Amino acid sequence: MKPLLRSLVPEQIAQIPELKGLPTFRAAQLVNWVFEQGVFQWQQMKNLPQQLRDTMSEVYDLGALEVETRLVSEDGTRKFLFKLRDGQTIESVIIPMGDHPTFCISSQVGCAMACSFCATARGGLVRHLEPGEIVEQILMLRRDLIDDPYPHFDDRQPNVVYMGMGEPLDNWDNVEQSLSIIMHNEGLNISRRRIQISTSGPASGLQQLIKSNPGVGLTLSLGGTTDESRKRTMPVPGRTGVQEAVDLSAAYARNSRLKATLAWVLIAGQTDSPEQAKQLAALASRGAFKVNLIPMNRLDYGKLEPSNLENILAFQNVLTDKGIPAFIRASGGQDIAAACGQLRRRRQAKEPSQKK
Ligand code: SAH
Repeated sequence: MKPLLRSLVPEQIAQIPELKGLPTFRAAQLVNWVFEQGVFQWQQMKNLPQQLRDTMSEVYDLGALEVETRLVSEDGTRKFLFKLRDGQTIESVIIPMGDHPTFCISSQVGCAMACSFCATARGGLVRHLEPGEIVEQILMLRRDLIDDPYPHFDDRQPNVVYMGMGEPLDNWDNVEQSLSIIMHNEGLNISRRRIQISTSGPASGLQQLIKSNPGVGLTLSLGGTTDESRKRTMPVPGRTGVQEAVDLSAAYARNSRLKATLAWVLIAGQTDSPEQAKQLAALASRGAFKVNLIPMNRLDYGKLEPSNLENILAFQNVLTDKGIPAFIRASGGQDIAAACGQLRRRRQAKEPSQKK
């Protein structure tokens, strides 16, 4: 398979051998087509010499994703199933809540974390995504907003959250490269403040993140306050101790000067006791964190249930009483299985409200 041109940062594109001997503005034109215009066919790059387009197309691929399915939820959330060049599939989501649209993107095909409450866990990890495959999800979603805009957003910059399929810190080199492209002013030019990496917190990955310090927001998904309870819901991430993951996340928050987020899924009878709320408040107590409480979204298998409203509010109260900012987060797109924890590799048999 050819390498993806969009796996390269603009400076690397300027250095590709195919541009040798050409005037320097050719690199700038190419970079503009690749990222700002976001085109998917060489023939669209009209101001480039035909010969350059021909040699480029022999060496690089411009597109890696094909829309297999596009679903639109009653609440406006849009979910995309993309087919990759090797036939594997991933999902990405546009969530239209808040002041800006949020793009939820995947970092791996499948996931190795095996969390009890998450559908992506089924089927395990297939492979890492390449930087270009990560970047292209954003371009595809951006294009969808141009073709079919939400009336209330104009052309606002999206928020980008690495909260789709996969564990981003297990694919750190490619995720780091995708961040460089996304934040680059000649790349997608998205501000670091609009970007969140969500992780289950492998110690080695958090250490790499701290070292690289890309300045984006960090969310640590907890699922348990003690090593033992965390291993029950998040068996693989549970191999890093809770305290160690929290300490490393706090260190990153200090370096990036942004509060980090602790994400807590509320599962009836498992993660919603007042005792756990107290322990979570203690973990979050050093000023480095806010807490997002996510009532569990239902899966179409298994027995886990979301907490009831009373328990959710009581859990939140324990945190806020202790001075911890705690927000209840509703996930969009439940009717099309686009909510947190509902993404998976294969389209399921029956899909409502299909569009396009
Ligand atoms: N592997 C990364 C990113 C993917 S999960 C991580 O663990 O953070 C993204 C978020 O979705 C996590 O905070 C996770 O706790 C949440 N999540 C997963 N399944 C869920 C479900 N069924 N209901 C609600 N939130 C869920």
